[in-house]
Amino acid sequence: MGMHFRTRAIHVGQEPEPITGAIVPPLHLASTFVMRDVTTPTDYDYARTGSPTRHGLEAVLAALDDGTRALAFASGMAATHCVTGLLAPGDRIVTGTDIYGGTWRLFNKLLTAHGILVTAVDTTDTAAVARAVVPGTKLVWIESPGNPLLTVTDIAACATIAHAAGALLACDATLATPVHCRPLNHGADIVMHSATKYLGGHSDLLGGALVVADPELGTRLHWLQNATGAVMGPLEAYLCSRGVKTLELRVLAQSATALELAQWLTTLPQVRRVYYPGLPTHPGHALAARQMEGGFGAIVSFEVEGDLAAARRVVESTKLFRLAVSLGAVESLIELPAFMSHGSYEPSARRAGGITDSLIRLSVGLEAAADLRADLAAALQA
Ligand SMILES: *Cc1c(COP(=O)(O)O)cnc(C)c1O
Repeated sequence: MGMHFRTRAIHVGQEPEPITGAIVPPLHLASTFVMRDVTTPTDYDYARTGSPTRHGLEAVLAALDDGTRALAFASGMAATHCVTGLLAPGDRIVTGTDIYGGTWRLFNKLLTAHGILVTAVDTTDTAAVARAVVPGTKLVWIESPGNPLLTVTDIAACATIAHAAGALLACDATLATPVHCRPLNHGADIVMHSATKYLGGHSDLLGGALVVADPELGTRLHWLQNATGAVMGPLEAYLCSRGVKTLELRVLAQSATALELAQWLTTLPQVRRVYYPGLPTHPGHALAARQMEGGFGAIVSFEVEGDLAAARRVVESTKLFRLAVSLGAVESLIELPAFMSHGSYEPSARRAGGITDSLIRLSVGLEAAADLRADLAAALQA
């Protein structure tokens, strides 16, 4: 398909409805589908296995990530959990230290209790990844940019290491979105997205997605998805398809505002350190410039001068930046990772990973940059 990204986002999987000509495909809520007779195969039989509204979303998500197949789930965690269904007791996962708090909890608190061995390394250090991958490693799980420190991991290098050991490489690309990075093109086997974030984009749905290039891997994951049942519901699939149509416009605008705010934050005396891959001072900047296109994402983290109380005052003082976890929607959000999004990490693991008590994470929304800047300026003075 030679169409540009934003054209695909609007048209793939979104054919007008053939009977009425409705330009927006209808929301199919049906849980079961009538058969013509007992033996003739039909496109749909039961909605856990597949349903038309979900398939429309899956088609566009596969197209946007340059994959052959996408699967839509009830949440990002359900998508991640489905990938871990490929593993058996005794298998090993190598994962990053700068990853989503819920992924950390799933790997380190649930899977380890089921006999899966989890090794966490700083995946920005490719040599450390190579040392951590040993016989028995079946999955390397990376996130780039990482969360909340915006670390940048070399997807192609990790793919080479994983594949040499016979392991799969999965990449949580929620923060990058397919607008800025398509990990399958860098050698990843599986891309995971929390559709709750940028794909949906409007803070009104919970969802997740996996995208693969290899049809056989897609079949295995679909088998697991159907067997375990954590599928995305039709209403969420409908809303997400609608959100995806403006994905490129939203993400490009949000990333541009994030860069502007990150640059400005570096000039403030109240700010000790800014984490944003678009800043030339960020250790992953050169890699991000090669691996990402069109911008560096819309998440900015920074440490304020002072202690926890100082950071707390800032996040409780902004007006446009709402105090909430989650990210990626049109509304700007602010939070304290150590207490909110990353509260499920052990405090020692959190500190070792560099998540200090005075670290603040911004999800930059679609409001005017000047208004967001004024909001932060007032809160930092407060
Ligand atoms: C939110 C998020 C997840 C989990 O997705 P849910 O939809 O909340 O289950 C995974 N990874 C990242 C980077 C996230 O931001």
